[in-house]
Amino acid sequence: MHTRAFFAGTVEATTTKGRAMAGTMRAERFHADTKTIAVEDIPIPGPGPGEVLVKVEFCGICHSDLSLIDGTFPALLPEVTQGHEASGTIAKVGAGVTGWAEGDRVVPSAGRPCFACRNCRRGDLTNCLNIQLMAFAYDGAWAEYTVAHAGGLTRIPDNVPFEQAAILADAVSTPFGAVVRTGKVVVGETVGVWGVGGVGTHIVQLARLVGAVPVIAFDINPAVRERALELGADYAFDSRDEDLKEKVAEATGGRMLDVAFDAAGLKVTFEQALDCLTVGGRLVAVGLSTVDLVSRYFLSLSVHAHRRGGGNLSMSVVGV
Ligand SMILES: [Zn+2]
Ligand SMILES: [Zn+2]
Repeated sequence: MHTRAFFAGTVEATTTKGRAMAGTMRAERFHADTKTIAVEDIPIPGPGPGEVLVKVEFCGICHSDLSLIDGTFPALLPEVTQGHEASGTIAKVGAGVTGWAEGDRVVPSAGRPCFACRNCRRGDLTNCLNIQLMAFAYDGAWAEYTVAHAGGLTRIPDNVPFEQAAILADAVSTPFGAVVRTGKVVVGETVGVWGVGGVGTHIVQLARLVGAVPVIAFDINPAVRERALELGADYAFDSRDEDLKEKVAEATGGRMLDVAFDAAGLKVTFEQALDCLTVGGRLVAVGLSTVDLVSRYFLSLSVHAHRRGGGNLSMSVVGV
């Protein structure tokens, strides 16, 4: 396993190849009672029916992983292997799995359906009402191996390296869902993105790819604003600017924003984004920080409310 900055400062980046005992593997384990983590030797899991065993090549670090450690998110299990942005190769195929073979390069989904709720029983696994989050409800991929639901696998094209593919599982797929599915951004729409960190950076790039114009980034950090411009934003404004609304009006030819994404998740950014919408505009709140309940994590909610001035506020919350 080639571990990237695995968990900087606490778990040293390490190459574990060949070190694991037969039948065991090294894994980062979070212990809920003490809120501590440790690299431990644990049995290599076996894939059940409909599952595959994945030999992990890379696994990203998500802010939600850190939120479990610091107690911001309640633990679902007494012990769990963290990490839900993985890439790797299939090491073993479980019973009943078709279309996949050992050696296939894959990205596992960062969650799996419960197979028991009303939507799952109807075959609507995508809208599972009780989605189980990888690295929270079951073991993740800060380990040499991880077990994944075969239905959630994505094949990695040969020209995409493992280290780039890994973050598709969350840091790219969440923004993709926000831009394409929830925000339904189309060619020529004006888009604003509040908070241009890991998620917001990808919202900027995806909005650009689907043809939004202009794409406006908002952040208080000048270095982050500069990066947003390099990655395709047409404008990058300091969200503390007192003339912000006028600048947005100028940048959009007076139109204001068709779609505003709040990836910062603060009351002030949410209200600012709302204030910059055009009549009929959509506001999409992206990320867990924007919702109170962990139970809403990964759910996509659409709330349609009436906005002062006659526009529709389409507020959506997309999990990270
Ligand atoms: Zn995540
Ligand atoms: Zn379900």
